[in-house]
Amino acid sequence: MIQRVAIIGLGTMGPGIAARLARGGLEVCAYDVAPAAIERAGAMLSAAETVLDALGIARTSGGAVRFTDSLADVVSGADLVIENVPENIEMKAEVYRAIDSLIGPETIVASDTSGIPITSLQAHISHPERMVGMHWSNPPHIVPMIEVIAGERTAPETVATIRDLIRALGLLPVLVKKDVPGFVENRVLYALLREVVDLVERGVIEPEDVDTCVSWGIGYKLAVVGPMALLDMAGMDIYHSVSTFLNTDLADRKDVAPLVTKQMAAGKLGIKSGEGIYSYTSERIAELQRERARKLVAIRRILEGGE
Ligand code: NAD
Repeated sequence: MIQRVAIIGLGTMGPGIAARLARGGLEVCAYDVAPAAIERAGAMLSAAETVLDALGIARTSGGAVRFTDSLADVVSGADLVIENVPENIEMKAEVYRAIDSLIGPETIVASDTSGIPITSLQAHISHPERMVGMHWSNPPHIVPMIEVIAGERTAPETVATIRDLIRALGLLPVLVKKDVPGFVENRVLYALLREVVDLVERGVIEPEDVDTCVSWGIGYKLAVVGPMALLDMAGMDIYHSVSTFLNTDLADRKDVAPLVTKQMAAGKLGIKSGEGIYSYTSERIAELQRERARKLVAIRRILEGGE
């Protein structure tokens, strides 16, 4: 049974995950290599707790979060380690090598990687059968779906333990049966992003109109009817006949679209640099973060059958 969890990496994802696990009664110890990240994590944890209150998620007794600046301390006695360091295989491998002699053979090591195959991460740890993908969606304290991915050497019991833990927390585990790059959530997202970037590049539509089209068209529906159920709603005959002429015209480029590489070269990275597809002031960024969290909470409450 999982009771003690170590979180390694307190950037965008770590604090929200820590807050959600503690709310479910787990003893969480959290660590980052950067002291500034540990300092920031306290405020991020409080903000996540406020959102969990707004979601009406009950507090299970015994749950708490403690921060530490020691790697040996964070993993000491942990039943589960969740690695949340940047999406870079070498950085992740360095963490696995560093904790290898500090954890017991029973400790499960889960990676929150967005899409690096778990099989390639398993090469860097002594007990690959205890390594698994546990891919949270951002913001992790609000989005209830978590992908669980087995690498080639992951034991079925490891997958079952993580799946049961997610269920016990009242969250939704999704089992990814093959260790494909990007898993499922990001493959679907990147297929969508490839298409919309292509449509904007070809001058078919303006970015604002893409956002309205997707958010208030298919996006609005998808939160209620999943894509496979949507196939049934539309009918196989319709999907078949549209696919015969549309599939050959859909974006299928293998490289990164020029729109993205040009923006990157110009330092226009999006919210983090103040400009990307749109422009942002620091006030607008704070306002967007509040507004998006509030709307995600409201929608989730409705979808779960609340008021
Ligand atoms: P981030 O860059 O915001 O934070 C990473 C943190 O890891 C930083 O605070 C950094 O100081 C710390 N770190 C780096 N090396 C370390 C080490 N050796 N030991 C301890 N801490 C170390 O990254 P993030 O967005 O939180 O993403 C973390 C992981 O989660 C990535 O694999 C990412 O792909 C995945 N993920 C991200 C999102 C997202 O939307 N941001 C969503 C789902 C999954």
